[in-house]
Amino acid sequence: MREDGTLPFVEDGAAFLSRLERSVFPCGALDGLPCYAVDLGEAAPDGTEGESASSWFQGLPEAGAPTFLPLRQILALTGGGHVWQAVGTARHLIEWRRTSRFCGVCGTPLEMNPDENVFACRDCGYQAWPRISPAVIVAVRDGDRLLLGHNASFPDGLYAPFAGFVEPGESLEEACCREVREESGVEITDLRYFASQHWPFPGSLMIAFTAVYRSGDARADGLELTDVRWCTREDPPPAVPRKGGMGRALYDWFFTGGAMADG
Ligand SMILES: [Zn+2]
Repeated sequence: MREDGTLPFVEDGAAFLSRLERSVFPCGALDGLPCYAVDLGEAAPDGTEGESASSWFQGLPEAGAPTFLPLRQILALTGGGHVWQAVGTARHLIEWRRTSRFCGVCGTPLEMNPDENVFACRDCGYQAWPRISPAVIVAVRDGDRLLLGHNASFPDGLYAPFAGFVEPGESLEEACCREVREESGVEITDLRYFASQHWPFPGSLMIAFTAVYRSGDARADGLELTDVRWCTREDPPPAVPRKGGMGRALYDWFFTGGAMADG
């Protein structure tokens, strides 16, 4: 990723790709140009963040040379737009390929089907499609108040809407109610779809909802969340989620007046 939030562009793509001694695969298109993902695998140790990618790939343009950046920094840099979608797709598929090397039924090494994006087992016929794990995130409002939580893994002062993975057997609505109940102790009503976003951490689809507080005393579960608080425009949290993700989108939606305007 370049510092300006764009991806490296290579004029002679075929020659460039032929020189790479890495796992390379096509990864959709961006502005009509084909994209490729390169899995550096074990060759990319921790600590490459901020390092120029030119030393890893011969043939990258010198001007505006890309550097290795953490995925969440790229999310903030791109604002969650179409460049982020290309990067996230690459990250998602690299992780899926890395964890789909053997058949889950019989243990035979899997082979990529050249016609479809699926691994297949030559022995038993099992097929391994890219996995997508749905997760929900919910903004709970009560008039001019928004309920937010501080996760134990968050930086100090950061508060965000409630989020979690959908469990087997659940609808999205049930997952929302359960997550909010488990993490904050409150019951919700009037659940409404807000938006969704590819979330490659490492392979999710984040589905955002708004909801209205119904009952219960807000309190942190003490496990996943260490604090919950009602926030208002006059009393906002010390820190909010980075731009680009659904957590920030819900927060901005509420604090730019959408929730207050419709009651
Ligand atoms: Zn098999």
